[in-house]
Amino acid sequence: MLLTFDDGYIDHYINVFPVLMENSISGLFSVSGKVLAESKPLNVNKIHYVLAEAGEHRKQELLSKVYKLLDYYRGTEFDYPSNEELYAKLAVANRFDDKDIIFIKRILQAELPERARDLITDDLFREYIPIPESTFSRELYMNFDQMKLMKKSGMHFAVHGYEHYWLEKLNDQEMQKDITMSLDVLEGIIDRERWTMVYPYGSYSREVLSYIADNGCNLGFTTAVRFADIQADAPLLLPRLDTNDFPPKSDNYLKIT
Ligand SMILES: [Zn+2]
Repeated sequence: MLLTFDDGYIDHYINVFPVLMENSISGLFSVSGKVLAESKPLNVNKIHYVLAEAGEHRKQELLSKVYKLLDYYRGTEFDYPSNEELYAKLAVANRFDDKDIIFIKRILQAELPERARDLITDDLFREYIPIPESTFSRELYMNFDQMKLMKKSGMHFAVHGYEHYWLEKLNDQEMQKDITMSLDVLEGIIDRERWTMVYPYGSYSREVLSYIADNGCNLGFTTAVRFADIQADAPLLLPRLDTNDFPPKSDNYLKIT
């Protein structure tokens, strides 16, 4: 069994690391380059915090703010479909989130042009989380010193992109740049000849696989939910079970073969 922890939260240093040490087990931790190099929170985390702050009771208010921002930026330097079209295309509930939440996540994590996503996410973040981004980032993620101590104590670190992009959505040049930058940031933490990849959002493509294989990656973890078979699975495409599939959140694990 291998436990993996994504995104480099300080919670993993404060709470997970001591429990692993007490039980003499090693964990695999993946951290995106940007949070370390720039002390800037990832968009995906800003969106999580905005959603958490709005909560169920202010969700409709958040949704109408998102619509207003979409209207505000549409037709400036960007062109994207109407709110109704976007909602019809993207609002499909999954096993974790209802369709409004999925719509907000997809709009801001992948659908819009990158700069539009950044602008709208920043506007929402400023409104819902009124503290400086650098403070937020320092409180949310682990830092280099903590990572070095964890590494010395037998924990493993994996590459998790620089910007936490959906790698399959980038063109070759952008994808290679994002991966190279993330490798550079983790200098001294990972072995460049033999490193592990945890694909952000589980997103990869044939191009991603061939690029990382050519650049020293020998193990990769997706977000496919099933038991890994070390004999049969491709080393760069190992599946994982998700904590959300276990109690108290759900009993899905019973259905996983
Ligand atoms: Zn992640």
